[in-house]
Amino acid sequence: MAVERQHVKEQDKIQRRSNFDPVESNLTEEQVKLEASRCLNCKNPRCVKGCPVNIQIPEFIQAIKEGNMEKAGEIIRQTSMLPSVCGRVCPQERQCEGNCVLGIKGSPVAIGALERYVGDNTKAEMPEIKPSGKKVAVVGSGCAGMTAACDLRKEGHEVEVFEALHELGGVLRYGIPPFRLPRTVLDREIKNLKAMGVKFHTNVIVGKSITLKQLKEDGFDAIFICSGAGLPKMLNVPGENLNGVFSANEFLTRVNLMHAGQPDSPTPLRVGKKAAIFGGGNVAMDAARTAVRVGFEEVYIIYRRTEKELPARLEEIRHAKEEGIVFKFLYAPKEIIGENGYVKAVELEVMELGEPDESGRRKPVATGKVETMELDTVIVALGTGPNPIIQKSAESEGLEIITDRRGYITVDGETRCTNIDCVYAGGDVAPVGESNAINAMGAGKKAAKAINDMLK
Ligand SMILES: Cc1cc2nc3c(=O)[nH]c(=O)nc-3n(C[C@H](O)[C@H](O)[C@H](O)COP(=O)(O)OP(=O)(O)OC[C@H]3O[C@@H](n4cnc5c(N)ncnc54)[C@H](O)[C@@H]3O)c2cc1C
Repeated sequence: MAVERQHVKEQDKIQRRSNFDPVESNLTEEQVKLEASRCLNCKNPRCVKGCPVNIQIPEFIQAIKEGNMEKAGEIIRQTSMLPSVCGRVCPQERQCEGNCVLGIKGSPVAIGALERYVGDNTKAEMPEIKPSGKKVAVVGSGCAGMTAACDLRKEGHEVEVFEALHELGGVLRYGIPPFRLPRTVLDREIKNLKAMGVKFHTNVIVGKSITLKQLKEDGFDAIFICSGAGLPKMLNVPGENLNGVFSANEFLTRVNLMHAGQPDSPTPLRVGKKAAIFGGGNVAMDAARTAVRVGFEEVYIIYRRTEKELPARLEEIRHAKEEGIVFKFLYAPKEIIGENGYVKAVELEVMELGEPDESGRRKPVATGKVETMELDTVIVALGTGPNPIIQKSAESEGLEIITDRRGYITVDGETRCTNIDCVYAGGDVAPVGESNAINAMGAGKKAAKAINDMLK
């Protein structure tokens, strides 16, 4: 009899509205064996092609079938340093699982859940490190930075990571909430890097506390810039400066990093009754689900297209709906109305879908109809761009880093080298393809390889 796809257990949808504990637990050992047995071990594995870094999926699943979990871990870690992270946050439905042949007529193999189980239940091997005498600076401690640091250290280079914030992990720490990515997962990976000898400096803003030129003068033979894209795009409508308007990044950082949801936090959050989140991606879902957990009574996601065009992961959308978040489609903000300096309402323009735009999605067009919605909090999740601090300071030192018109650093797609000697860039600050966790890790790997080749 055919084995059915195994599902992880999820926390009760009412209960989880008031806690930050992981929504999903892992598959059980029994379920992992059953799920692995569903893999057909295809000769031409489409799942591998669907994975942006081409993890050898059938091979790691085969190792699970053989009961060799450590080998499964080793196979995944050859390509992805953070299986516990990717197994939780990758949009598998569009990547590996979206390409699984079993999905054509039924349910694809739960590759993400298997990867997560392997990641959580195996340890990266501690490599033997032979000092190379070279030094590399990594700017930013997110997915790209951690991956590059790991690969560079394995090659024997001294690696120092400079991080602007007081905690390490980038978006995985300050953006993605712990109910999706438990912090223990991240802490374990960072501990591992420290054990390998990677040095971390927090509260150091490259471009302000120290410049690229100074890093070079300090003897760094190569620099990898992976400072992410943390600068929020705002709505550009009247009323955006009112109290009660947040960018999603600020809102999530306050809660995730500064623990603003807790009563004794030094940076408390004014929790109102009704919040609207503008946007339809993963960030919007995370902000909305976080708003529910910190105590907003009504939370809305307002999106200018329809549900079909929502860019967020399907699982996130389902979870958001289960947690009572209300979706309002085909509305765009026109004005935020205030009273005594605080948000009181938002005027929404009713939209309809027109012709497809350059992204291939049908463009929202204003109908001219306007509705008013009373609320006290507006959270803007319309995307982010790179912060120009590093480029500006480099420019003032006579180093002009070439960027595109939106400020993303221009790099060679294979090596991630910039136009400046020994300076590389990758991840969200220099995206090649979609900006997501696995692509940032892929960039970290490519840059580390190119730096290593160059240093040798
Ligand atoms: C809320 C949210 C949810 C997301 N959900 C998903 C998801 O479900 N799945 C998925 O695949 N992707 C998701 N993403 C995207 C994904 O997390 C990112 O694409 C990825 O983490 C980028 O990694 P990175 O290393 O390039 O940058 P980051 O993780 O942003 O790390 C960059 C680091 O550099 C530091 N930095 C910045 N400037 C400086 C400076 N001048 N000096 C020193 N340090 C500096 C920053 O503080 C930060 O720690 C999400 C993003 C957000 C914001």
